[in-house]
Parts: sequence; structure tokens; C-alpha cells
Amino acid sequence: MLKVFGMMSGARNLCSKAGSRLQGKVAVVTASTDGIGYAIAERLGQEGAKVVVSSRKDANVAKAVDQLTKAGLDVTGIKCHVANSTDRKALFEKAIEKYGGIDILVSNAAVNPEVGNVLDTSETAWDKIFEVNVKCSYLLAKEVLPFIRQRKGGSIIFVSSIAGFQPFSLLGAYSVSKTALFGLTKAASQDLASENIRVNCIAPGIVKTKFAAALHESDAAKETALAQIPMGRFGDPKDISGVCAFLVSDDASFITGETIVASGGMPSRL
Ligand code: NAP
Repeated sequence: MLKVFGMMSGARNLCSKAGSRLQGKVAVVTASTDGIGYAIAERLGQEGAKVVVSSRKDANVAKAVDQLTKAGLDVTGIKCHVANSTDRKALFEKAIEKYGGIDILVSNAAVNPEVGNVLDTSETAWDKIFEVNVKCSYLLAKEVLPFIRQRKGGSIIFVSSIAGFQPFSLLGAYSVSKTALFGLTKAASQDLASENIRVNCIAPGIVKTKFAAALHESDAAKETALAQIPMGRFGDPKDISGVCAFLVSDDASFITGETIVASGGMPSRL
């Protein structure tokens, strides 16, 4: 029995040659002209996927497409503010028009317009945070479903945060919105499991991007933040993109409804 098992896993390794796990797949990644989203678009492209990049600003989209194309990747791009329904529709239409289908959605956009304790959050900021971080994730997943169903299977990823497990004191409402994505992942994964559509989530720790600049730019902030990370360093966007590539590949074919934490050891229990 052991021998048979060994033979099977050996055969599987041959099939999943590094660099081609996502050959033939089409991926749509939101908020992907910078930071974690850009690294995800790049990595999925490197693994063989055709990728649609997007963000709010045309110039950022053009720059990202140019860079990734020059790196030899098959990408296209379109402006998409995730809270704009016309933009979301155009995003999926772009994927269909250019690549003929969609297998993978990575919902990565988030905002945090206010810093402070959760109950000090203004109602306006609360609404904006929940609209972009939670409602748009649900809408993107709902709207991409007909396309993924046509492929008889696929994968949806929500980008949450370690703050969803352990709220950051000054990112109160943002942290709660990221906790909601764990619930969305669980609920949607149960609904879609029988259709071979997997729904998973990634919870990054503190990653060196513009979004987290307040945590790593000044020496004082850097020292405080690093003291909370057992591995003693900030994450790099590539620390997250590899997790995403794994989750959307066949190497994760039996994983759905899960959240993978990539936080350098920051605690992740509710
Ligand atoms: P980032 O480096 O600041 O990049 C943000 C990207 O999002 C840019 O491409 C930006 O381009 C785009 N964007 C912003 N608002 C958008 C919107 N409403 N619709 C579409 N695109 C939008 O941010 P990041 O750190 O990579 O964050 C990405 C995700 O990771 C977020 O969900 C964040 O919550 C999560 N995360 C980050 C960290 C961290 O430490 N960095 C930790 C945990 C979780 P435009 O300006 O052109 O729109």
C-alpha cells in the first residue's frame, strides 16, 4: 500500500512541473497594479496563467501591463474600481473578449480611510470600509460565478489580513471587515464545493507595501511593528503571491474554505 502511494505521488510530481501549474488558466486579479496584487498577477503569469490586471487608475494599469508584458507574461489590463458596477462588468468582459473565459478570481482590493479604535470609527468610514473590503468581494465573486461555472470548476481567493484574527488597535473597522472575509470564504466554499469551485482566503501579516507604509516607514513605527513579528522581518509581496499560486493550482485541489496565514509567525487564532 505504501509503495503504491509512493508511486502515485511520484507521478503527480512529474505532472506539476514548476512554472506550468496554471497553464491554460485565465486569472482576474483586482487591485493588481502595485503591492501584493501586482506580485500575485506576476506569479500567476509566471506559472502559465493569462492574467487580467486592474486598478482604479488607467496610468497604473498601463504601467503594470507594460512591465509584465516586457517580462514575457501574457497579460492584459483594464481600469476597475471594485466599487463601480460598470467597471466590474467591463473587467470580466475584458477577460472573456481577450482570453475566452475565466478560471480564477483574486479579490484583493481594500481600503482603510480612517485610523482609530473600532468604536471611534465614523459611520462614513465604516460604510466605505465594508463596501469596498466586504461587499465588493461578495459582488465580484457573485458576478464571476457564471463564467467560472462555464469552465466546470475554478478558484476564488479573498485577500484578508492577519488583522482579521488579531485586530490591530488603530485599524479597528478594517480589522473587522477582514474577519468578515473569513466568514464569506467559509459560506461560499460550502455552497460551491459540489461544483468543483474552490473558495479560499489568504491572511497576510505586515507586508512592505504603500498600504502598510505607516507601519514600516518611520524608524519608531518599524521597531514597534517588527517586535510583533516572530520572524523579525516584514513580509515581501512575493511571500504572499506564492501562497496564492499554490491555492489556485491543482496542488490545492482538495482545499476549500480555508485561510492560509502568511505572517512570519504573528498569532492567528480568533
Ligand atoms: P498597495 O501596495 O497599496 O496596492 C494597492 C493596489 O490596489 C494598487 O494597485 C491600487 O491601484 C489598487 N486599489 C486601491 N483601491 C482600489 C479599488 N477601490 N479598486 C481597485 N483597485 C484599487 O496595497 P497592498 O498592501 O498590496 O494591499 C493589497 C491587499 O492586501 C489589501 O486587501 C490589504 O488589505 C491586504 N493586506 C495588506 C497587508 C500589508 O501589510 N500590506 C497586510 C494584510 C493584508 P490604484 O491606486 O490605481 O487603484
